[in-house]
Amino acid sequence: MVCLLASAIMLAASAANLDIYWIDVEGGGATLLVTPARETILIDSGENKAHHAARMHDAVRSAGLNRIDHHIVTHWHADHYGGTYALSKLLPIRNYYAGTPFPDRVDDDPQFSVLMPLFKKANRGKPRILAPGDVIPLRQVSGYPEVRVRVIGGNRRQIAARSGGPSNLACGAPVVAPRFDDGENAMSLVLMIEYGKFRFLNAGDVTWHIEERLACPADLIGKVDLFQVTHHGLDRSNNPHLIRSIQPLVAVVNNGPQKGSEPNTMRTLLGAKEPAVVWALYANLKTGPDLNPPAQRIANPAGTPGGRGLRASVQPGGTFTVQIGDDGHKEEYR
Ligand SMILES: [Zn+2]
Repeated sequence: MVCLLASAIMLAASAANLDIYWIDVEGGGATLLVTPARETILIDSGENKAHHAARMHDAVRSAGLNRIDHHIVTHWHADHYGGTYALSKLLPIRNYYAGTPFPDRVDDDPQFSVLMPLFKKANRGKPRILAPGDVIPLRQVSGYPEVRVRVIGGNRRQIAARSGGPSNLACGAPVVAPRFDDGENAMSLVLMIEYGKFRFLNAGDVTWHIEERLACPADLIGKVDLFQVTHHGLDRSNNPHLIRSIQPLVAVVNNGPQKGSEPNTMRTLLGAKEPAVVWALYANLKTGPDLNPPAQRIANPAGTPGGRGLRASVQPGGTFTVQIGDDGHKEEYR
């Protein structure tokens, strides 16, 4: 009887958390949120590979669930919506959202003509189109802080700045964009996920000049606790003005064995006045230890088969842990 009571209390405690899973889709995006009301929100779906779908399915099942309540596609690139069809064969996906309607073509995505018909087949209709200022309707649990998924930007637009607000001191001298990219990446949704005071930014693959609009001259975002490094850590994204402005306590790099965590992005994160604590799915073997997180914060060290994800668990008060897989190295942040 005593044991049963203790385990019931433990279950109630963990169910109060917002859990965030970064699923290893080898350089794509697939971020699963499980709310205290036990709703699942999948932001992007990796590539059209059976093992990507299986990993997303496993993450949902490890939370004791078997459905996706809300599936948000940040933009129409194969590493962000390619896994949706295969996943829809494994579990039901109830609501679809995107930042722009189904495009006729995407110039910089050679897989588009194969994948878009599959996505439409999985969706059986049209995704709801999200605009800056929109909020995904979520179930809440009374007695716990509110969970919110808010749209900060999408389709090259952003929420409005507060009128008469101060200009952002993090902007300073203009930064020179490494490359102007106005393609599909620039259209990405920019999402703020909040649980009470806790704040997590996922900006998909949005690129440098759009990030500039999010931070300068007015700061549209504010500080965040947790940051999913934009565009897998590529230097075409991760404008220092934005990163210095959001000042993330913890940054997660959803990179792949051969993709992402590029040097300028890592320098910005690790060289800031208050450097972020960085975790990554993989090490960048070209840049050396100075521009990688320490080994204990890398989910899939070189020479291992891959497939391990990262997981954050956010308590109602905002304290959160980040952990490798279900049982790997774990740290707590307040
Ligand atoms: Zn991507």
